[in-house]
Parts: sequence; structure tokens; C-alpha cells
Amino acid sequence: MEDFYKILGVSKNASKDEIKKAYRKLAHKHHPDKNGGDEKTFKKISEAYHVLSDDKKREQYDNFGRSGPGMGSGASSSGRGFGGFSQADFDMGDIFEEFFGFSRGGKRRTQRRGEDIAIRVTTNLKKILEDEERRITFEKLVSCSKCDGKGYSPDAKMKKCSSCEGSGKIRTAIGPFAQVTTCPECVGEGNVPDKECADCRGEGRTKEKQEVKFTIPAGIHSGQTLRIQGKGNAGKKGASAGDLLVEIFVENNTTFERKGDDLYYRTKANFSQAALGDKIDIELLTDKKISLKIPSGTNVGKTFRVSGKGVPRLSGYGKGDLYVIIDVVVPKKLNKKQKQLLEDLKKEGI
Ligand SMILES: [Zn+2]
Ligand SMILES: [Zn+2]
Repeated sequence: MEDFYKILGVSKNASKDEIKKAYRKLAHKHHPDKNGGDEKTFKKISEAYHVLSDDKKREQYDNFGRSGPGMGSGASSSGRGFGGFSQADFDMGDIFEEFFGFSRGGKRRTQRRGEDIAIRVTTNLKKILEDEERRITFEKLVSCSKCDGKGYSPDAKMKKCSSCEGSGKIRTAIGPFAQVTTCPECVGEGNVPDKECADCRGEGRTKEKQEVKFTIPAGIHSGQTLRIQGKGNAGKKGASAGDLLVEIFVENNTTFERKGDDLYYRTKANFSQAALGDKIDIELLTDKKISLKIPSGTNVGKTFRVSGKGVPRLSGYGKGDLYVIIDVVVPKKLNKKQKQLLEDLKKEGI
């Protein structure tokens, strides 16, 4: 699946209005009823608009990272290891400030947000036909309840930070350059409490088991990663929390094979059914049954497309198709009557 923003020719932070305008223009140009129109392009534009014009769907789409949904394995997880913490996320403001040594705006800027946490969750083909609510419990750093994440008790008195002598900054010489960094002791505040919180030893966060609820969207592909904002580790001394990265593994199904958003299913037909045509019952992944009509003279390996019976598209726009492949069964054991009938057919040249 392509980049929806690219398809509409808008930027990632385009407003709803810009998206609407871009869609109208393109839809008008490519409408299949028009001369020079193209159904495929038109469908793509409509799909992109369907997603980006809906706040919830757009957010979900954005959450899959730059590559967008449907990109197959590792869509947005590249560069991030699993099973550990990632510290790749800085606030650009931090780097700027630390490098040049100026303080812009609030002092809280100097605090790093909490680490991201990466986990892996297994689901299966049947479950991803619909949105799935999941709850997982795991140990992570949460804001200390005793000091409300501050790192010191309410009765603590503030005193001048001895590390930076109250300036909030530390100078270190690296080669010919004097580098100014934020004082780690007081995180740039210049003051420190005289008493640390006993529960978190001044960190403002403690380890705790916590339940996190999230939704695995219908149509997700194996290897894709959901980013759940603010559900990672709490930051130190009240800094904002990191994210939870959930890599999804979709187990294969033994009966239905998935290719993109389409499903493939093999079914058996008797020789007489294939020759004369018949209706074949197929039990879908949803446990619903459909009746597939096969015409007379159906050959081995013939594939029939059942529109819209595949996997829902991650974009929330439509579903893939179901392809039914016919296997014609040659009987191994025949009773006397069957044998006689086939002998008669043989005489007829069939
Ligand atoms: Zn505490
Ligand atoms: Zn200090």
C-alpha cells in the first residue's frame, strides 16, 4: 500500500481542508466516467481520502510510522530493537539547548522523556478480521505515587544545587570547545530539594506492574508495530512518559492462506461436480457459509474470485477478496456400480 499523503499530494501535516481540496481536484481528474479517467487511480485516491479525512483513521494510519500500513514485515519497526529499551527519541529542543547552552522557555524542556518499551504480541488470521481489544500487564516505571513524580516530598526545602552552584548548567571542555550542558543534578533548575522521596530515591518513578489496554486494528499485517503514546516508562522527575511499541505477529492459518489482503482457499470437487457444474459450500474464516457455483467443465486448478470476502484493509476502506481454487478428486476406491458407470463413460470417450 502506498503513502496516502503522496497519493493526494499533500504534506504529513496538511489540514483537513487541504486534504479535501486535493481530493476533489484529483477525483475530478481521474473519475472513471471521464474521458482519460482511470478506475484504479480513482480508487486509490478515494481510499487515501477515506482514511485521511477521518481523524481517528488518520491517527491510526500515522501511528504505523513513515512507511504506512500494509508495507509488510517490519513496517515501522526498522532501527528499533525489541526486547529492550530504546532511547532514540530526543526532543530536538534538548539537543539544541545542551549544545548551545541557552535556555529557551520552560525549564522542563531539559528533561528527557521516559524510555520507549517494546513488546511483541501474537494474534491470528481469524482475530484480525475485526478490531481486537487487548490487555497486557507488564512491569514498567510509573510515576511515583508518593511524591507525585517530583522526586521529593512536599515538606522538603529547596537549596542551592552544589553541582552547578545554582546556575543549572555545567561547563565541560572537550578539545578546544567548551561545552555547556544542563546540570544533571538539578536538571537545570539551580535548586535541589534537601530531602529526596524515599520511595523512588529522587527519581520520581518506581517499578510497578501495570495493565495497558490497546486495540489491534483489523487487517494488520505480521511485523507491523503499533505505537501507543505515553504508555512506556515514566520520565524522570515528572518528565513525560515514553511510548509502548507493540510488534504484532499474525499466526498463519492452515485453511486460508493470506496474500496481502486477499485469502486463498483450496476446495475439493468430485469429477462429476466439475464436469457437470454444481454448488459447493465453503465455510469462511468468520464461520459463515457461502455457496460457490462452479460451472460445468471446471478444470483442475481453476480459481474463482469471491469479491470482498478477504481480510479487511487496514485503512478501514473495504476488504480484500477470497480466491477459491478447485481441486478435482480422482476416486481411489470404487464399488461395483461406480466402476461400471465409469466403464460406460470410458466407452463414451469421457
Ligand atoms: Zn517518589
Ligand atoms: Zn545543578
